[in-house]
Amino acid sequence: MDIKEFREHGHQMVDWMADFLENIEDLPVRAQVKPGDIFAQLPEHPPVEGESMNDIFADFKSIILPGMTQWQHPNFHAYFPANSSKPSILAEMLTATLGAQCMVWATSPSAAELEDQMMIWLQEMLALPENWVGSIQNGASEATINALLSAREQASNFDTNFSGLKSSDYRIYCSEQAHSSIDKAVAISGLGRDNLIKIPVDKDFAIDVKALEKQIEDDLKHGLKPLMVQCAMGTTGSTAIDSLKEIAKITSEKGIWLHVDAALAGTALLLEEMRWMSEGMELADSFVFNPHKWMFTNFDCSAYFVKDKEALIRTFSINPEYLKTREDDDVNNYRDWGISLGRRFRALKLWFVIRSYGVNELKAKIRLHLELAQWFKNQVQGHRYFELLAPVPLNTVCFRAVAPDLSQDSVNALNERILNEVNDRGNIFITHTKLAGKYTLRMVVGQTEVQKRHIEKAWEEILEVTEQLINS
Ligand code: PLP
Repeated sequence: MDIKEFREHGHQMVDWMADFLENIEDLPVRAQVKPGDIFAQLPEHPPVEGESMNDIFADFKSIILPGMTQWQHPNFHAYFPANSSKPSILAEMLTATLGAQCMVWATSPSAAELEDQMMIWLQEMLALPENWVGSIQNGASEATINALLSAREQASNFDTNFSGLKSSDYRIYCSEQAHSSIDKAVAISGLGRDNLIKIPVDKDFAIDVKALEKQIEDDLKHGLKPLMVQCAMGTTGSTAIDSLKEIAKITSEKGIWLHVDAALAGTALLLEEMRWMSEGMELADSFVFNPHKWMFTNFDCSAYFVKDKEALIRTFSINPEYLKTREDDDVNNYRDWGISLGRRFRALKLWFVIRSYGVNELKAKIRLHLELAQWFKNQVQGHRYFELLAPVPLNTVCFRAVAPDLSQDSVNALNERILNEVNDRGNIFITHTKLAGKYTLRMVVGQTEVQKRHIEKAWEEILEVTEQLINS
């Protein structure tokens, strides 16, 4: 492709992108294809000669697009959002064009220094402790692994990296509702999943702090070594908020690493009225939230903050000759702040998003989402066919349909049918979880362009399907 063709196709694709975003509501939210449908349309062998971009783009539209679930659709209410925005998309185009590898300052000074400043901006925007430092990781799962490895190194006086794990007595604690990434982190860090202790939750699905304290005390009595507690600020199931303030009191007294997983909920700390969630943060050791979930920034962009920069760098720094530069003592070389050596230029999209919206507009959007979730919650609570299954502190409503005289199993089956029927229609997309053995429908409000009419439509769809199934 020469530069003239590149320019023409670039313009053509930007036009397509604008049309796509403008008309996204005409598309089904969840891909309406069966396993194998896409594969069957792809040639068995790679082309020997290059093909025209017109042909490739035509196949993108006819083969690939129908097999995509539309995560940016305002009627997408599944999982947690992975929302993007127009400024973020534009930044990603520039990032791809620059194609920079940002492993050390010298390989892309602007990328390193923009990341320095974006982390300071986020710290201020979320009112995180001032002496902390942050970096961009690819996801909250990776940040949790980082926290656990730093805790392990610090506890072993930075010896495990050199001589391997000598103790299998370390214990890690989280709530029964914590995200599965902690299971993975404990497994692959060599600490052993048997040493991950899942503490029961209270009626609101937040960690039972008394049970946590008792477990830690029992473990200490038995000669075990409490290594890390993970505090869930917004569980994946129901956005339950563990009491950071109470947990931090225990961990700081006992010298245990405290990691705060706020993958979704961290964005809500933009709002002064939501900062009750972060009381006690100054006593924690690490905190992660994902602008790629709820802060309008394309995946991947996870902001990971730590209190002790030295513990982080001593855990991850490897300094082969070819990566040494004369600026090493004066700059942040982010390859030393995590697992990967290679790094994309991820700070650019954050810069575009924060500058384009401004803090006030970001806050207004999050406030709207919180209000719409409350509106949906009120519909659930006001209708005889439904019950609310968890508090709604943020943007996620957990609920289910109930019908008189049905056993728990039948109610579960009914709700599973509602979920499938609603999603098969393609007009909205919701997902489920299980809370206290109950099949639970989850309605999440987090889309960049979501408005009240979308939430009203979701309610109408769910109600219509439920009435049909209950009365059939
Ligand atoms: N923590 C929580 C609470 C989550 O909800 C998720 C994903 O939904 C994760 C961690 C993992 O996030 P990531 O996909 O960025 O690794």
